[in-house]
Amino acid sequence: MSPRTKEPQRGKSRLARGRRPAGPARRRATRAAAESNGARADGRPAEGRAPAGARVDPELAFLKQLVEAHGAPGHEGAVATVLEKHLEGVGKISRDRLGSLVCEKRGTSDAPRVMLAGHLDEVGFLVKSITKEGFVKFLPLGGWWGHVVLAQRLVIRTRQGDVLGVVGSKPPHELRDEDRKKVLEVRELYIDVGATSDYDVRKRLDIRPGDPIVPDSPFTIMANPDLLLAKAWDNRIGCALAAETVRQLRGQSHPNTVFAVATVQEEVGLRGAQTSAFKVQPDVGIALDVGIAHDTPGTEGDEKLGGGPLVVVYDSSSIPNRGLRDLVDETAEKLGLALQYESVERGGTDAGKIHVTGEGVPSISMGVAARYIHSHVSIIHRRDFEQTVRLLVALVKRLDRSTVERLV
Ligand SMILES: [Zn+2]
Repeated sequence: MSPRTKEPQRGKSRLARGRRPAGPARRRATRAAAESNGARADGRPAEGRAPAGARVDPELAFLKQLVEAHGAPGHEGAVATVLEKHLEGVGKISRDRLGSLVCEKRGTSDAPRVMLAGHLDEVGFLVKSITKEGFVKFLPLGGWWGHVVLAQRLVIRTRQGDVLGVVGSKPPHELRDEDRKKVLEVRELYIDVGATSDYDVRKRLDIRPGDPIVPDSPFTIMANPDLLLAKAWDNRIGCALAAETVRQLRGQSHPNTVFAVATVQEEVGLRGAQTSAFKVQPDVGIALDVGIAHDTPGTEGDEKLGGGPLVVVYDSSSIPNRGLRDLVDETAEKLGLALQYESVERGGTDAGKIHVTGEGVPSISMGVAARYIHSHVSIIHRRDFEQTVRLLVALVKRLDRSTVERLV
């Protein structure tokens, strides 16, 4: 989900000067970053809760792979590759020219064309500059709150590999009263990648302005095993919903052609939704994204983890098609699934672009509730994901030519 914020300013591009090829120190840094990831890259939950010899749960393995892949806006290739593998044999795969992935699964008819879209990108950052002392100044890609960035682990994706860094923060001992009350802007922060006076970060790590930066945060199954903790549920869970829906439609009859689309650059302005919708030319559109759970202290609203599929009735990017919303309600009722309704005053989804494609496309946004989106530690409920897939499969099977005609 993308918040309605000012477009992040782009860092002034500065030409890299005086860089030398990677030395042994550079390779050590890369290895350290790789090992910090490798410790949990064995298919087991990071907390090691799965008993030894337990069968790997394919659904969890897929979700883990998806959220741990890195995809700052404009740099989604690694995530697209995970999805492409998962969709092998399901339908014809293609890409738009910005990098959005399209999987076309034909049913018993060419039309209507049903677009299911989740966005590939996650909120991240971009290298702005490197200080002469070797600290990295950076800019947000997507909406961030300074509070959740301080003292976090981040990965800088250079052309020679990943470099781990932490966001520097002051100890409370040295905070003046006015500092304590202030929320820092990302522009005021810096990343420490191991800078010391005798280690020339600029020359040895090959970090360049424009390099993407993402949170470093392992997929973790919580003590309540239905709750899954990770970065980037916004919006890998939307990608997973689209992918699982078309996968489950294999061998089933559906009166349309479905396009499972994973869009790029949603968090910076729904850009991949625009280009991929132009490519797909859908007759009906369903954006799949996270909603904000309001089941934690200090929040107001009914949406909760485990409360069932979420339907967006209002956001600042689109108004859902009424007929489509009724059809979602009816379908859920038939399946005996409880729905949750969300209105988002300051945010939108890919439906914001899909519904204004061509002469207009009846559209709706759906998804699952998540806690703490746009941070390192978002949480979803596994059952919400599975129920939303069930609902989507049943919904797609009802979207025949006459039903979609009646939506307009
Ligand atoms: Zn978002």
